[in-house]
Amino acid sequence: MMNLARLRSFIQDMTRLVERHGADEQRMLDEGEKLLRGLIAADDWLPEEFARPSHEGYRQYLLHCDPMERFSVVSFVWMPGQRTPIHDHTVWGLVGVMRGEETCEEYSTALEATGSHPVRRGEVDRVSPRIGDIHVVANDGEDVAVSIHVYGANIGAVRRHTYDPATGAPRAFVSGYANAAVPNLWDRSARA
Ligand code: FE
Repeated sequence: MMNLARLRSFIQDMTRLVERHGADEQRMLDEGEKLLRGLIAADDWLPEEFARPSHEGYRQYLLHCDPMERFSVVSFVWMPGQRTPIHDHTVWGLVGVMRGEETCEEYSTALEATGSHPVRRGEVDRVSPRIGDIHVVANDGEDVAVSIHVYGANIGAVRRHTYDPATGAPRAFVSGYANAAVPNLWDRSARA
């Protein structure tokens, strides 16, 4: 059963949080993580078109952008073997795995690989320029992986960087989104 109300509630909670504590990154990460763990604990709300993988590469679908662009919520979908380039974010971010399992490979600002760890279903990982902002996310598993990400900006419009793995040279990029329309959170007629 599709339970979009869960996403609506999450967005309402995140909006309250950013209103109160948007300038406090630590608090956004701590309290945002609790909210995101709640959202990904039940896998019954993400419409199928926002969980569709592509052979051409991993997909990022915008689910919601705050009207003031203080945060955005994005579903990422990876087929087995798909991976991001080495990239940064320039804003805080939370990565919550809802299906499958992902691997995060972390890099220092000098582009040295500093470690890698699995992010399992139900777990949340963090990034930000303050705590470590450069990584690769990969699906090394055998199933499609879906994660829900929350960022402290309209992430698809942020000018940030990918890095050449051989030379470390940065390249400016703006990720954009794979979808042209966002989920309709506001049709409550099914309950009426
Ligand atoms: Fe990332």
